[in-house]
Amino acid sequence: MYEPALWFVLPKGGVGIDYTRGDLPYEDYIAHFDERLRKYIPSPGEWTPVDDALFSPPDLYTVAPDEATKLQLAALQYSFAHHYEHNDLYRSYCQQYGMAPADIRTEHDLARIPLISDAFFKNHPEGREFATWLGSIFTGKLPTVVIEQQHPNCDQVVNAFNAAGMVVSYSSGTGGRHTFIPRDRRTFNNAEYALAKCILAMSCGRWIDRSETYLLMPDPRINTIYAGKSTEIMFDLLGDMKVGIKQSLSLNLIGMVMGNRGGFKGTLVRLAGRRRSRRMIDDVIKWLEERQESPDFTFLCGAPYLLHAVLTELTRRNKRFEFGERGGVVTGGGWKIRENQRLPLTEFRQAVFDVLGIPGRYCLDIYGMVESNGWMVQCPEGHYLHVPYTYFKPLVFDTEQKPLPYGEWGRFGFLDAAALSYPGFILTGDTARILERCPTCDRPGPVLDPEVKRAASQEDRGCAVEVRRLFSSD
Ligand SMILES: [Zn+2]
Repeated sequence: MYEPALWFVLPKGGVGIDYTRGDLPYEDYIAHFDERLRKYIPSPGEWTPVDDALFSPPDLYTVAPDEATKLQLAALQYSFAHHYEHNDLYRSYCQQYGMAPADIRTEHDLARIPLISDAFFKNHPEGREFATWLGSIFTGKLPTVVIEQQHPNCDQVVNAFNAAGMVVSYSSGTGGRHTFIPRDRRTFNNAEYALAKCILAMSCGRWIDRSETYLLMPDPRINTIYAGKSTEIMFDLLGDMKVGIKQSLSLNLIGMVMGNRGGFKGTLVRLAGRRRSRRMIDDVIKWLEERQESPDFTFLCGAPYLLHAVLTELTRRNKRFEFGERGGVVTGGGWKIRENQRLPLTEFRQAVFDVLGIPGRYCLDIYGMVESNGWMVQCPEGHYLHVPYTYFKPLVFDTEQKPLPYGEWGRFGFLDAAALSYPGFILTGDTARILERCPTCDRPGPVLDPEVKRAASQEDRGCAVEVRRLFSSD
């Protein structure tokens, strides 16, 4: 069973006026949530099957399977036709496979939609050609992008796209190759809205005005790095927000951090990371001390590495808090805490309980990636990663790219209908296992095993690795 009503904190009398504990139905809470996030939701006259799938269910994880299958098929048929018609590159790719929108008639045809390898998105040229390349991935009509420089670097190209109203973001690997994804505003809104709604569904209304949150990641409002970028929406939802990295980080700087390069300057950058790390840990601890008596909610949100560093320091100082039900922890980005060490999730939750007094059911991890707008959030009961299956179809493939049945480990791919500005049909480098139902809770949709692994060749990519390297030089 999932347990929604017990720990609800609800609006009474409207937005930002008064909040008291109660047990209003989730539907009423989500109505308030949608009202608050109105600017992220297209006006009803403009809704497509993708919007039906994303915005109409009050909880994306509890839609009855028949209904979800219908919503998912319509959304993916719409999305596939949209990219086929408006993206020359993707259309010619599909033609090589002899696939066209008319071939997708039932849900059994969906696995035949041609997937793009995630490697494609990091195989970009430099300079002005980089801009052309970004434009070629983009589906539909690009806004007018003005690049003033004759020989622009990647930062300048990305900034020019974003000045034209896009939200181009990136994630990087150690080889210095960045993965760039060109989102338009609507697609980015989808990603943000989905993230907020999915966390809300699993934390059952513990999101309120009267809360304070510490984001242990770069400030999403001024950065294009994808680590935490979608949490920008939380500034429209929550009370006070603090951020761990207040400055704007250039691609060049991230490249130095990730690639151990840059000579003397690179060394300085890494030293600054270590200082930043110490400062932030002190700052978080001070904040926790200020928060410990507050009746309101206290949330920590960010990369496991940084939270782990905070917990370790608190243990060293022999300091313990008792936030209990007033606390929450949300993590994302991957679980490597050192180059060759993965932090076991159960151990982490135990440490959160031991040091902060926050029970495991309020400590949730999220699996997502720069290429997708789907968020797999853990359920509080069993910590399996639930899939928002009304608009997002997970797939697992064998080494010959044949789809595998439920329960088998293989290469993870997905069909993401919420990607409107680039084809969101992607084969990732990660290894995953899908279960038809959660072994622990009653939510009816598919789940991923929480132990998703980066494929060996991709081991050093991902948002948490970037954040970790921004703070350390290990
Ligand atoms: Zn579950």
